[in-house]
Amino acid sequence: MHKPGTDTPERFPARDRFAEGAQFVAGRPAPGTSGRTQAVTDPATGEEAYRYELAGESDVDAAVAAARAAFPGWAGATPGERSDALNRFASVLADRAEDFARAESLQCGKPLKLTREFDVPGTIDNTAFFAGAARQLQGQSAGEYSGDHTSYVRREPIGVVGSIAPWNYPLQMAAWKVLPAVAAGNTIVLKPAELTPLTSLLFARAAVDAGIPDGVINIVSGTGPGAGERLVGHGDVAMTSFTGSTAVGRRVAEIATATVKRLHLELGGKAPFVVFDDADLEAAANGAVAGALINTGQDCTAATRAYVQRPLYEAFVERTAALMETVRLGDPFAPGTDLGPLVSHAHRDRVAGFVDRARAYATVVTGGEAPGGDLKRGAYYRPTLVTGAAQDSEIVQAEIFGPVLVVLPFDTDDEGLRLANDTPYGLAASAWTGNVYRAQRATRELRAGCVWINDHIPIISEMPHGGYKASGFGKDMSAYSFEEYTQVKHVMFDNTAAVRKDWHRTVFGDRP
Ligand code: NAD
Repeated sequence: MHKPGTDTPERFPARDRFAEGAQFVAGRPAPGTSGRTQAVTDPATGEEAYRYELAGESDVDAAVAAARAAFPGWAGATPGERSDALNRFASVLADRAEDFARAESLQCGKPLKLTREFDVPGTIDNTAFFAGAARQLQGQSAGEYSGDHTSYVRREPIGVVGSIAPWNYPLQMAAWKVLPAVAAGNTIVLKPAELTPLTSLLFARAAVDAGIPDGVINIVSGTGPGAGERLVGHGDVAMTSFTGSTAVGRRVAEIATATVKRLHLELGGKAPFVVFDDADLEAAANGAVAGALINTGQDCTAATRAYVQRPLYEAFVERTAALMETVRLGDPFAPGTDLGPLVSHAHRDRVAGFVDRARAYATVVTGGEAPGGDLKRGAYYRPTLVTGAAQDSEIVQAEIFGPVLVVLPFDTDDEGLRLANDTPYGLAASAWTGNVYRAQRATRELRAGCVWINDHIPIISEMPHGGYKASGFGKDMSAYSFEEYTQVKHVMFDNTAAVRKDWHRTVFGDRP
């Protein structure tokens, strides 16, 4: 049998690349200087896989200085030069795909099939997309609007971007932050989550190996309150882009606002999954299980609240619970595994706490416990389905970020859509129906940055991702992300060559 933790080289083939430390500044790896260390732990085994020195303030300062020094050259490169570099970057990523997949599986506990088929190819595709998009940056208008002038818009990079990323999709989040920023001519300092710095570091190194100049992409691996706050408050950082929880996003916004920075926030979610009574029950049940359990439910767009119209409710609960029980928990590196552990034991205990508190007012239909046997030492939690909870209860309103789906009934279409919108979040939502009018109404009325019809989860590089309400503002991916990472400048040319312009009358009167 495959024994987790006994074959580290297979789980972590890129280990040697981290020998010099977990900071990446001006094109080179370095140790952090905070005097404190942090473990990267394999959540499937609880064993330490890597330990690194956390970034201190001086590491953040050095990374920002490197990004600042690289900015004029990178901003001055032609779109074609930046595009070529990003195309080479995509090729290097593709050559190293297996190292990325294993490092991501190791640090997060994701099944290898997920990292091989989703995280890594998604990142390569995103890189290729931004290689193309780098040549498509446009100002919107040019013309003689006043009659006496030619006006046009220049779209320019902002400067040094300071980005902060979460642990749930470390590689994809690094890509979503870094790629639009650098495609638009900015330079960047990225702080990955403390638990999961490995693939962000591999990403930055691959960029340098592909010929992206030193200092364009820098990584500081440090704590949120330490390196994170230093980066957000830094005077030489022109923009903060943050992906993480709404609570931390508020703190980041306070600091960024105090230093008058451009701000992009991708925050938490609690996506509804609305099943109307004409929906294909089997498709909806399969979609709910996949949408709730992807990445062990640690997905900001995961299906978390299924609202099912009364005629289908009982059958939906029964079928969804039965399907959940077929999902195979196991070692992320074993071929038969569908679902890995949560990212850490502390996070697993947090998820269990939500379910345990809900027992006082709701019913746990399946799951609601950690598995025993071989999986006992890992941060595993069984797929969990909860019913009977009130709309205003914690399990319906709070972001749990684990493999937990709450199912609630509704009667009228009005009620279903109202309940779906009734949380502070607005990142994603789905509606399940064969009726085109119901589907159209749902796309109009669901208050979320993404609405799926008869599916839940897929994303694509060409389309924007971002929240409404407490899920934040601004867009990742797609050409829309350039709105965050560029600023527009109005340039106005006088066409008259007159010494005394027409409008000077407002100052000189009619005197010649
Ligand atoms: P988190 O908010 O705890 O941490 C996110 C990042 O912020 C980490 O790098 C952390 O070190 C840093 N941080 C913590 N305190 C900080 C501070 N005071 N100042 C600056 N930085 C600080 O989130 P998490 O637990 O890592 O990730 C899960 C959360 O991320 C969930 O809420 C999830 O919905 C959200 N998320 C959102 C999206 C999206 O696109 N909207 C995508 C992925 C994850």
